Amino acid sequence: MGEWQYSQVLTGILTLNRLPAGTSKSTVDLTDEDLELGSAEILGVRRCVLTLVIENHENEFIVRGECDFSLTVECSRCLDAFEMSDSLDIAFVVKLLRASEISAAGEDSSEDFYVMPIGADDFDLRPIARERLLLSLPLKFLCKEECRGLCPVCGINKNSGTCDCRQETSDERWAELAKLRDQMGGN
Ligand SMILES: [Zn+2]
Ligand SMILES: [Zn+2]
Repeated sequence: MGEWQYSQVLTGILTLNRLPAGTSKSTVDLTDEDLELGSAEILGVRRCVLTLVIENHENEFIVRGECDFSLTVECSRCLDAFEMSDSLDIAFVVKLLRASEISAAGEDSSEDFYVMPIGADDFDLRPIARERLLLSLPLKFLCKEECRGLCPVCGINKNSGTCDCRQETSDERWAELAKLRDQMGGN
């Protein structure tokens, strides 16, 4: 592999016609505004950096790299904010085609294959980062696996405090227990 060229892409837009021929490397810093993650549980983007190696074959760009991110999220049990970090592999191809070729190519387009008309220079990395990042996230954020959550009666965070609230006995497990007790002849 030849000399690495290094470029900073601050806006999240890759300007294809400015990429050097051959292989180059770009780092892209994405912000809250760039990612627009649009989720009440995601409180903020602390860091989201794409490190990309781009092979420029004139009208075809092969992009590989990773997305390192760190988010401030809300625990779905105790509602505390905490930080989660992860790293994702990213790989896709951008192909520039003549208008007449685009409709044909559209039929076998996939999420790893993007088609743009020849002459269109700005490739937006933000929706790709947003989509991949959202897909990688768990359905529920937990500050820790054994998070004890909030007391449903007084709202105290049971990870850091205790209370004397009685739990509702409408819970099915309690009903089962009561039935068992009846069967055993108790009262
Ligand atoms: Zn929690
Ligand atoms: Zn309580």
